[in-house]
Amino acid sequence: MNAEESREIWESLGVIEDWLQGGVRRRREPPDFEALSARGEAARAAPAPGPPVADSLEAIAREVENCRACRLCEKRRRAVPGQGPASPLAMVVGEGPGAEEDAQGLPFVGPAGKLLDKMLASIGLSRGTNCFIANVVKCRPPNNRDPAADEQAACLGYLRRQIALLRPRAILCAGRIAAGALLGSAQGVGRLRGTWRDFEGTPVLVTYHPSALLRDESYKRPAWEDLKLFRERVSPRP
Ligand code: URA
Ligand code: SF4
Repeated sequence: MNAEESREIWESLGVIEDWLQGGVRRRREPPDFEALSARGEAARAAPAPGPPVADSLEAIAREVENCRACRLCEKRRRAVPGQGPASPLAMVVGEGPGAEEDAQGLPFVGPAGKLLDKMLASIGLSRGTNCFIANVVKCRPPNNRDPAADEQAACLGYLRRQIALLRPRAILCAGRIAAGALLGSAQGVGRLRGTWRDFEGTPVLVTYHPSALLRDESYKRPAWEDLKLFRERVSPRP
């Protein structure tokens, strides 16, 4: 309804009101119909209020791909948000992309990744079915150096959002950097492994990084013990 139509209706209602009250016409100050009409247009043009838009893995991935929140964006070829199903049993958290991951935009696809896939397969997990794989930092640190504390801090929000959406039964933390980021502990893997820990209500088990296993055979036995403990929690036998 425009201002002109509003004014006509207002005047008709005035006539009816006066007739009902005895037939004597009274003077009335008309409202500012132009202003009221403009306000109505503005209200219709404004976005409808509603619940906040829900977070999603896709939204996180798009943000990561465009992220420039730390210096690691400068040398990356592809950001590596993570890979796996949306409702996994388990989640693996590594350190950050290496050369192969940076080239493909996918986590753990180099030599350490091949070993990780075998380790997961041995306890019935895979990124194609029931296990999501992510890293503490989503962009490759140059020369595979450790991600710096400020880089980890800049990136941790993405991992936290992923964990909140995925709600895995448990998280396997691969290596010292992931353990430090999730548990806030400076202790080495040797100290942290073998016992269940906690990240904001989600059980966390720390184990050796697969690239450490590739360098040092002696880590294989304790890593296997960790995997068995992890399996017990993630896929309990009937
Ligand atoms: N090492 C990691 O920590 N993450 C990867 O994605 C690959 C290698
Ligand atoms: Fe952003 Fe994380 Fe990449 Fe840094 S490492 S630019 S915080 S996505």
